[in-house]
Amino acid sequence: MARLGSWIESHPEGIYVRPANAWVDPSHPKPKALVTHGHADHARGGHGAVLATPETLAIMATRYGPQSGQGIAYDETIRVGEVDVRFVPAGHVLGSAQIVLEHKGERVVVSGDYKRRPDPTCPCFVPVPCDIFITEATFGLPVFRHPDTGSEIDRLLHRLHSDPSRCVLVGAYALGKAQRIITELRQRGHHEPIYFHGAIERLNQLYESFGVELGELRHTASATKEEMAGHIVIAPPGALNDRWSRRLPDPVTAMASGWMRIRQRARQRNVELPLIISDHADWDELTMTIRELEPTEVWITHGREEALKHWCMTHQIKACELNLVGYEDEDD
Ligand SMILES: [Zn+2]
Ligand SMILES: [Zn+2]
Repeated sequence: MARLGSWIESHPEGIYVRPANAWVDPSHPKPKALVTHGHADHARGGHGAVLATPETLAIMATRYGPQSGQGIAYDETIRVGEVDVRFVPAGHVLGSAQIVLEHKGERVVVSGDYKRRPDPTCPCFVPVPCDIFITEATFGLPVFRHPDTGSEIDRLLHRLHSDPSRCVLVGAYALGKAQRIITELRQRGHHEPIYFHGAIERLNQLYESFGVELGELRHTASATKEEMAGHIVIAPPGALNDRWSRRLPDPVTAMASGWMRIRQRARQRNVELPLIISDHADWDELTMTIRELEPTEVWITHGREEALKHWCMTHQIKACELNLVGYEDEDD
């Protein structure tokens, strides 16, 4: 009998699905790419044809121009070569999907990036039992346990209200995290205008065009210091220590990322208010998901594989790491 998943090949530039003649999240241009979500380390430009959710295709189009390919709605099954392919919600960012691949009675699920906590900007992760689960492990160490999102948002609001002469500048990745912070704030009852850095404007608009309500947003370029005092400003992480921030009224610098668990990372960016809000599964979510899916094998991507591999082995699950290049951890 052939080895389980012998029709899936792992190459440094991505996962090749041989009977579909297609690549999952390839880091180089390929004739046919199945793309899990729009973050730049998964969705590159220049492919011949892209199969992805309509949201992901739209995100790719804002970055790389119009994409040739096909938008595939969640839970629709399409046939690619000799493989049945289905996109299932991953709960990571707008349009993010796990890719379910079925061939000759075997089911392989490629998680892409995922999380299990609710996120007002996208549907929740749907667990699909499978033979092989190809999982990310961005936060694959037991030290990574993300706190409750609501309590982190409350810390942000508390800090904002404690000094109305200042603003709180929140560094958040432009795709996903920025819009999630805005919607989490709205859910916590914060309905004041939120100011934004120009670099996130197009993605805000794209989210709104897919029905994600962000409330009243204002561009920092058309506001005075006085107007922004007592308000929240959202900017990509790269803008936190940039000249740009001088236009803001004495900003309290915050950053929303799973990496804020590590004090050193907060210090590197001069972050005064680290907010541990992540779009990736933490250790408990990773292990809970594997328990739930009961795969025969787990293949691990994205960095910290060792601990998760060891956890799988102690739970009688065969595990290995895939050495894919180019997956960054910055999208958190
Ligand atoms: Zn991602
Ligand atoms: Zn990733």
